Amino acid sequence: MSMFQDIPVEVSVIYEGQRIRWPDTHVELGGPRVEHKFELVRVKPLSEVEDGRIVIIGPDLKDMEKRSYPFGLYIEVAGSQLGEELEGVIERRIHEYCNYIEGFMHVNQRYDIQIRLSEKSYKKGLNSFQIIGKVLCRLFKSELPIIERIQITFITDPEKVADMYREALGIYEKRDARVRGLKDEDVSEFYGCNLCQSFAPTHSCIITPQRYSNCGAISWFDARASAMVDPKGPIFRIEKGDCLDPLKGEYTGTNDSIRKNTGGEITRVWLYTAFGYPHTSCGCFEGVAFYIPEVDGLGIVHRGFRGPTVNGLPFSALADSTAGGRQIDGFHGISIEYMRSKKFLQADGGWKRIVWMPEAIKERIKDFIPKDIVDKIATEKDASTVEELRIFLEKGGHPIVERWKEKEKEAEVRPRLAEPVVTEDKVEAPEALLKGTITTVAAPGTFRIVLKNARIRAEKITIKRLD
Ligand code: SF4
Repeated sequence: MSMFQDIPVEVSVIYEGQRIRWPDTHVELGGPRVEHKFELVRVKPLSEVEDGRIVIIGPDLKDMEKRSYPFGLYIEVAGSQLGEELEGVIERRIHEYCNYIEGFMHVNQRYDIQIRLSEKSYKKGLNSFQIIGKVLCRLFKSELPIIERIQITFITDPEKVADMYREALGIYEKRDARVRGLKDEDVSEFYGCNLCQSFAPTHSCIITPQRYSNCGAISWFDARASAMVDPKGPIFRIEKGDCLDPLKGEYTGTNDSIRKNTGGEITRVWLYTAFGYPHTSCGCFEGVAFYIPEVDGLGIVHRGFRGPTVNGLPFSALADSTAGGRQIDGFHGISIEYMRSKKFLQADGGWKRIVWMPEAIKERIKDFIPKDIVDKIATEKDASTVEELRIFLEKGGHPIVERWKEKEKEAEVRPRLAEPVVTEDKVEAPEALLKGTITTVAAPGTFRIVLKNARIRAEKITIKRLD
């Protein structure tokens, strides 16, 4: 049931998680086809905010046709208890509240937003930003009563969007920089966020000083501020508890939290690795770290990268394999800020394990990549296939090459087993293999084998841990 009788479409939590496909879209705001898009919240003095004011700079919804437009959503809020440290948290709620509006889908965050208005809702009368603004003003004030005044500006004029986009990037950077320098060991509590559970019910973010949220929009400081002002909200405190593994980043408190917040679906989480029990991913991540078995390294791709990655798959395909609140070995949702962390994938070898990434993202975080490795990581200009990548890594003396040598030595001492014969619809394993020991050596020492619709008959199965 709708919350507001004077709004032509329903506004309700039931629309959270809605998906609007392109054929059903009336217009797209932001999205991958346009360069400039952003959403930004600023806290202002009470005297500078006119409560309920809605401004539109550029064409309104009724003047737009079916295509993607540059878009900016700028929200100014004021309140005696509000401070700059809450801007990021209030900004992230845009995602939630837009998705309450029937036929108005919002995904991603900050400079990466993608919003679609459905044809159906447009025909029902949702044809002006004035209506969207009215709904957002009401939701923000009712859900976050510390907001005393709010005014919203919708920008579709391309030049104005581009100007403000640049300004917004500077503000995001300033926010992110605040938490750099603080270590996970320095704090007694982490924070959890369940905001994206409407899209991925078994996803729960763990936010630490050195593991920024997947969406890149909520730092440990932001989360702390949010949990304080809105204790019943989606962001909550997690007592760290005992550290079970400092390298992988396993804590009793984070395991308890993930178990509780995923209904028991996920029971353990390792914060600083892409393997084993990696942090889950919803779909809002800024980038994906993906395993490239042919070189035993990890590639990175960010949402804005258009072309195929070095393994031939585009971001969208890798994101599909990563999203959905699952723990999948070698597919790991990450934020850009996490790449600046000293604990970035530390259990996997950190930057020594990264072999490929788009040039744009490398340029952006260059200062945080160890100097002796930065030029050894390939970009799309150096390698567009895995074979080219292997040659580039060998030629440049990437640290991964040493890893290959060590593995080769290991392989030499391992007894060879007969190979199974794979035919179109069956696998025939020779007797020697069935009676022998099957040794699967994956990058971090683990494999998860999923057998679907399989019937297995065996007299005895022995699974041994190999150190
Ligand atoms: S990605 Fe994580 S931190 Fe960001 S909004 Fe979603 S659940 Fe919260």
